[in-house]
Formats: sequence, structure tokens, C-alpha cells
Amino acid sequence: SDRPLKFLVTGGAGFIGSAVVRRLIRETGHRVCVVDKLTYAGNLASLAPAAGSERYRFEKADIGEGERMRAILAGFQPDIVMHLAAESHVDRSIDGPAAFIDTNIVGTFTLLQEVLRHWRGLEGEARARFRFHHISTDEVFGSLGPEGFFHEETAYRPNSPYSASKAASDHLVRAWHHTYGLPVLVTNCSNNYGPYHFPEKLIPLMILNALEGKALPVYGDGLNVRDWLYVEDHAEALLAVAQRGRPGETYAIGGNSEMSNLAVVKRVCAILDEIRPDPAGARERLISFVTDRPGHDARYAIDAGKIGREFGWKPRHDFETGLRETVAWYLANPGWWGDIRSGVYRGERLGAG
Ligand code: NAD
Repeated sequence: SDRPLKFLVTGGAGFIGSAVVRRLIRETGHRVCVVDKLTYAGNLASLAPAAGSERYRFEKADIGEGERMRAILAGFQPDIVMHLAAESHVDRSIDGPAAFIDTNIVGTFTLLQEVLRHWRGLEGEARARFRFHHISTDEVFGSLGPEGFFHEETAYRPNSPYSASKAASDHLVRAWHHTYGLPVLVTNCSNNYGPYHFPEKLIPLMILNALEGKALPVYGDGLNVRDWLYVEDHAEALLAVAQRGRPGETYAIGGNSEMSNLAVVKRVCAILDEIRPDPAGARERLISFVTDRPGHDARYAIDAGKIGREFGWKPRHDFETGLRETVAWYLANPGWWGDIRSGVYRGERLGAG
């Protein structure tokens, strides 16, 4: 149905959240309220393409502030809450797990309580229409050997502080459905990449370091395998689930694009060499192997058959196409990443990830 809905998007100034919001404003008639604390990872510049719309509004708030969330829910009256606010960087979770516990677990709990209260106050169609969509990761399932795929029934075995905090939040969301009847949806997705990705993450870090002739640090032997999904394809999948998913259901989302980290870095080098050659030589020379991340999961891969069967969703970009678009976007948008890289933005300085 094409009736205009109201989407409240937590973490909407982040990488995936901003892709969801830009898509909602660009391609639908729905209204959007972004709720974001604007941590180091939140960036209003990523929302610039949506910010001019009268269907868009922004609230700077922490999901862990219950009263604030109560007021925002009461004021906006969302039909759908899409919950993407989280601490999201595995390396940061190893160095400082406290923020991951606070936002991902306690923050999600606080938000659930306020959303439950809000939903209980709704009546009739508004109550029947309401959904709480929790966006999570495939990292909650732990590590795969060379064979097999994660799917909706895979047992949880998180290994990092980040994935453990996301697993805990998934369990809370599931329990709020089973115990209180809250109409929830959960999605677990593989590694995203694409435009507006904060340059501490593998692909943008490698693009920008390679462009600047800096070292390309690769963990361990570089043979850890990830499944990569273009962020715009993830945003499309999320909007399908948010509007058509059955309450209480989980959907696994993946790109069907398994690559070792080393192979990813080599593709980044080759694409850059092709479109902006380096007079000093092929960029693979910049690759340097660094001490492995503690507890580094060997392989992630997703069986996304369920979302394909139920909603006809599949990724539109294969890895090569998506990576070329991503490289082109970083080349065309130094204004977006320049401030972050120079350390001006929020006083952050980046190391080698
Ligand atoms: P991100 O770090 O780019 O963005 C997170 C956003 O949440 C930021 O805008 C930040 O300011 C905001 N935020 C953090 N703490 C907050 C708080 N307490 N209150 C309000 N806002 C807060 O992350 P992302 O990569 O866009 O990931 C979004 C979600 O998707 C996360 O829940 C993550 O676990 C999940 N996910 C990410 C990936 C991936 O590859 N990036 C894959 C699967 C799932």
C-alpha cells in the first residue's frame, strides 16, 4: 500500500542509517524523523541530500535517555521505528567495550521500554500497523569454517565485545516480542560497504590510504573471509522488511560476495591504479601485514534465501560493480572525508584502524 508512513530512524546520521533515510526521502512519500546522538560516527553531512525535504526532521538525542525518547515518540507518532543506533566498530570494542554495553545493550533496552509504552498507547489501525525493526549483524553467529552459511536458525556464538553486545540486543528485542507482544522485526546482515562509510572501516581506509600513498595495513595473513553487501542494496532490503516483514520474524541479509580481506585490498589497488595511476608504481606495493586482531573471526557468509523468497529481494550490485561505485564516490567527494581525515572533524585522529 502507498499510504504515507512515518519512519523514526535511530542512528540515521551513520553509514547505513543515512542510506535508509536518503532512500526514504528520495524514493518514497514517507516522513522521516532521525534520532541520533552524533557520536564520532554520526555525520549530518551524510544527510544533506535529505535535509531539504519537508518530510525530514532531525532530533539530536541519545537512545539511552528514556524521557527524551518518550517525548520524541509522542511528538512524531511513528508507524515504524528502525533501530540502527549503535557503536559499530569491532576494534574500538576491543579497546573500550563500555560504550558498546551502554548504547547497544542498555540503550536498546531503554528504547524498547519506551517503544513498548508507546505501542501500548496506540489503538486500532495505528496499533496494528506499528513495527519495531532492529538492525543487526551476522557477527552475532560467530565464525564459520570453509563450508556452510549463516541463516535465520543459526545458533548465536558472538566472539567480540561488539558482536556480544549486538547479540544481547537481539535477544532483548526477541524477548520483548515473546513476552510483551511488541511487533518486532530483526535483520542480521553481513559487512556493508559503499559511499559515506567512515574511513576507519576497511574499504574506505584502504581507498584513502592508497590514494595518499600510505601503508595499507592488513590483519594477519589477510585470509579472513567476509561477505560484502553494497549499502544501497542493504537499505532496499531493510525497507522491504520494515514494511512487509511478519512480526516476530528474523531475516538474514547478505551480498553473496565472499572475499578475503587481502583480495578486497588488492581490488581496491587495481581499480585505483586503473582510474588514477600512481607514478610511483602499482599500489599493491603499499600492502603491509600487521598483527592480527585478537579473536578475529575466520569467515562469515550468509544464506539470504528467506528474504529472497518472501520479498523477491536480491543484491543489485556484485562486489566489483559496488566497489567501483564506491571508489568513484570517494574520488568525487573529498569534501565529505577530507575533514575526517585531517582530524578536524570532532577532533578525531585515525590510526591504522
Ligand atoms: P555507524 O557507526 O556508521 O552509525 C551509528 C550511528 O548511531 C551514528 O550516527 C551514531 O552517532 C549513532 N549513535 C551511536 N550511539 C548512539 C546513541 N546512544 N544514541 C543515538 N545515536 C547513537 O554504524 P553503521 O555501520 O551505519 O551500522 C548501523 C547499524 O547496523 C548498527 O546497529 C550495526 O550494528 C548494524 N550493522 C552494520 C553493518 C556494517 O557493515 N556496517 C553490518 C550489519 C549490521
